[in-house]
Amino acid sequence: MSAYAFPPPPHPSLAIAGSDARLAVHRIYCIGRNYAEHAREMGAPVERGQPLFFMKPADALVADEGHGIEVPYPPATQELHHEVEMIVALARGGRDIAREHALDCVHGYGVGLDLTRRDLQAIAKTKGQPWDAAKGFDASAPASVLVPVARCGHPQAAALTLAINGEQRQHGDIADMLFDVAAIIHELSLLWTLAPGDLIYTGTPAGVGPLVRGDRLEASLTGIAGLHAHIT
Ligand code: MN
Repeated sequence: MSAYAFPPPPHPSLAIAGSDARLAVHRIYCIGRNYAEHAREMGAPVERGQPLFFMKPADALVADEGHGIEVPYPPATQELHHEVEMIVALARGGRDIAREHALDCVHGYGVGLDLTRRDLQAIAKTKGQPWDAAKGFDASAPASVLVPVARCGHPQAAALTLAINGEQRQHGDIADMLFDVAAIIHELSLLWTLAPGDLIYTGTPAGVGPLVRGDRLEASLTGIAGLHAHIT
């Protein structure tokens, strides 16, 4: 094989609790409107029919090594919003994965932030344009240390919370997802070939809102994973 014209960039990866090995991140899939109360607060219909998927580039990841992260306030927005979400990491992939086998693909769970330029998203929605600039910008995907299934099992219920500067802003429970983890994996695998290292951001509960420089965020998938982030 020929040499690369430029050195390849470092591969995005996440720390794994209790392991020296890391998860090499392949793709970042996200589902929108997966909690009824959040769909309502966005003025969107609550639908269980067809899931709304979008992606972030893998190098949008900001990986917490367990000591907290610094997240730069992005350019070209006046309205950066937080969305706290459970993250699912895959150990196996494939196509057309049946719901009853979907959880066998999961490596572990974490918590992250689907950071959003809400002002650009609103314009994109109005004009029928894609969401890339609203959702897939640099450093738009903070993520916690992953907790492997061997440690936490497959959580069916857990509080998903976000506090900003010590004040709770988002609170939900993963039991209230419209598409559960098995359903999301199944639906994604009908559209893309899933692979080891894929991350899935599983949607946010109600309470999204703006961030400003200096905010200190504490995200939690209670009893499983946590993330501290400072907006700079
Ligand atoms: Mn989201």
